[in-house]
Amino acid sequence: MKSVLSLEQIEASYGPIQALFGVSLHVSEGEAVALMGRNGMGKSTTVKTICGMLPAQGDIRFAGNRINGLPSHKIARLGIGLVPEGRRCFSGLSVEENLVAASRKGEWDFAKVTDLFPRLAERRRQQAASLSGGEQQMLAIGRALMTNPRLLVLDEATEGLAPVVRQEIWTAIEALKNQTGVSILIIDKSLKELARIADRAVIVERGKDVWSGPFDALDREVADRHLGV
Ligand code: ATP
Repeated sequence: MKSVLSLEQIEASYGPIQALFGVSLHVSEGEAVALMGRNGMGKSTTVKTICGMLPAQGDIRFAGNRINGLPSHKIARLGIGLVPEGRRCFSGLSVEENLVAASRKGEWDFAKVTDLFPRLAERRRQQAASLSGGEQQMLAIGRALMTNPRLLVLDEATEGLAPVVRQEIWTAIEALKNQTGVSILIIDKSLKELARIADRAVIVERGKDVWSGPFDALDREVADRHLGV
């Protein structure tokens, strides 16, 4: 399968504090990869290096091209759609304005995003700041899709949401996985929900990848060793 994203031995630091000590991971065309690990092990930092928000040493390739050192907006334009932790949208803009502002040529448009999240159509004229947490998360995913990404990066997309809303979002992610060709790199704590979509998993520990394999091979023993508290 064609490689969409590949990281080879990525190292990264926050000022003097090194957080990544050699993370390698790969995502192929149409594949969903779960990036897992206990709190503080380097998942979000890995995402920041991919999206150009933190400088990295090592090789980061997207669709074959080296992207280290490119600014975030260029990386986004190449086709990486990030749904960041904390669902950032433009709070003063309406739902529709938020989506249109993110729009780039391709199959995803306002109609298609609101098919996936009908609530966003109902709220189209409402300011983003007045949406519920779940609706803001739907909007954040919608904004990423409007850029027509080849790779969607979801960092804790269901964190802190009510169970019902969480299910709505998982159903949408599952539909994306099954009905579109988009590749997905996803961080989430729920093994059960990740199992609905993930083909493979990569586990990071203290800033290094320590396990990777088919999601089905992530058994109790691996989970206890690397993910247990
Ligand atoms: P979580 O699930 O808690 O978000 P994570 O696996 O995403 O965890 P990271 O946020 O990537 O972990 O953090 C990796 C390491 O980098 C941790 O030791 C953390 O304390 C450190 N770190 C993260 N952000 C910063 C920052 N802005 N400045 C300094 N150190 C940071």
